[in-house]
Amino acid sequence: MHRTVTTDEDVRRAFASDASGLVLVPEGVARPTSAGEVVELVKEAAASGTPITAAGGQTSTTAASITDTGLLLSLRGLDRVIDIDPVARTARVEAGVLLGEFKRRLAADGLLFPPDPTSEEDVTIGGAIACNASGARTLRYGATRVHVTALRVALATGELVEVRRPGLEKNTAGYALAQDAVDWFVGSEGTLGIVVEAELALLPSPARVVGLAIPFRDEGAALGFVVAARLATNVLPRCIEYFDGLALDIARAARAETAWAPAAAGMVYVEEATDGDDPPLDAWLELAEGHDAIADDVLVFDGDSALRDARRMRHAVPAHMNERGAQYRQAGGRKLSTDWAVPFRKLADTIAEARRLVSDAGIPMPVIYGHAGSGHPHQNFIAEDTASRERTEAVIEATLRHVLAVGGTVSAEHGIGKVKRRWLPLQASAQQLAVMRAVKRELDPQGILAPGNVI
Ligand SMILES: Cc1cc2nc3c(=O)[nH]c(=O)nc-3n(C[C@H](O)[C@H](O)[C@H](O)COP(=O)(O)OP(=O)(O)OC[C@H]3O[C@@H](n4cnc5c(N)ncnc54)[C@H](O)[C@@H]3O)c2cc1C
Repeated sequence: MHRTVTTDEDVRRAFASDASGLVLVPEGVARPTSAGEVVELVKEAAASGTPITAAGGQTSTTAASITDTGLLLSLRGLDRVIDIDPVARTARVEAGVLLGEFKRRLAADGLLFPPDPTSEEDVTIGGAIACNASGARTLRYGATRVHVTALRVALATGELVEVRRPGLEKNTAGYALAQDAVDWFVGSEGTLGIVVEAELALLPSPARVVGLAIPFRDEGAALGFVVAARLATNVLPRCIEYFDGLALDIARAARAETAWAPAAAGMVYVEEATDGDDPPLDAWLELAEGHDAIADDVLVFDGDSALRDARRMRHAVPAHMNERGAQYRQAGGRKLSTDWAVPFRKLADTIAEARRLVSDAGIPMPVIYGHAGSGHPHQNFIAEDTASRERTEAVIEATLRHVLAVGGTVSAEHGIGKVKRRWLPLQASAQQLAVMRAVKRELDPQGILAPGNVI
């Protein structure tokens, strides 16, 4: 057994849960502190055919970072920021570096690594890469994938490889899916290789950011405004987030602003980032007024401290719902969160249909909030016991079928993991699934990496 592996019961239990609400106790836990140790561990696992599941911050909502078979490989010990080059605007980091800490360090140098999952304080760079994490600002900057330029990866054989984006503007050599090996690993949820190190592309921090919280009397007006904000040419939002009435109540309570915008049944939060110019506040207010916003109650968040306040307000919603869901674990209940997305113009109709399905099933309305500008809301349901969880899952599946019928995806952000695996075949064709299996077989012929995730 490798020196970094333990089978101690307490340690195994400490790595047995993530944000999915499920518990899977691994047979052993390995806590390497270097890429060399990861390679040794994978070689040993390959020789004995032992399954090996990588884990970072274990914030997965889909049980992707837990396992009850073989080794749980925690990458948290690989936590060095190797290099930050402010001139080339690149950074080289180990997989276990925490995203939030890394971003604060960059900010001190006037640099930005844009991916901003709500969970970023607990997320590792390796986990963000493995899940292609995204967030509110993905609207403007794209998800993690586009910011990764090279990876060091331990393959399932234990071979350590460095893959780098070709950096070409044109390329017709061979199939697209084989042209850039970085893309094999980004979003592969630990199933194709173990990321030990990453080279990331950085942006300059914007000189000025202003946020606006815009209240609306009804959902239709708010979602109409979202589409208009996407299409407007005189504003350039880096995020467009929607909060329905229930989410707004939680956000208001988090700011101790329960009296704010009493007539509002929804809110849209937008952010503009500029290189120093004044953000187009008048254009935003005009757009809001044109969509029946409650213009007198618009809140402006200008400056770091105000923006932190806005962030706290928005992030209070998932945090509150996680706490509520955790109360029902003993009874087989939990928070159930969707992360489907549709083309943004179809969001209002899809939310209306999702609400109809909930109402027909007679279960409580979920809290709906999130990345409306990308057509990507979260529905947060609270299931109080096993029976209500099953009823909720049936409603979610019916919603997903509708989402797919209008050209959407069953997962825009949190990945498939183990929890959503049964929904992948609703979206991917038999040929697409076969291609995924072929890639998996090629890169992990023994099937030892993160068994049970994705396919
Ligand atoms: C409150 C809350 C809010 C969230 N908000 C968002 C959000 O806004 N956007 C978003 O995208 N996600 C969000 N998530 C989901 C989650 O935080 C992300 O998927 C995140 O990227 C997972 O990172 P992690 O370090 O916690 O990885 P883990 O949960 O530990 O692992 C996730 C997956 O990555 C694999 N993995 C981890 N490290 C490596 C590695 N080094 N090499 C290969 N595979 C690896 C694991 O095997 C697993 O499949 C949220 C979760 C919570 C609990």
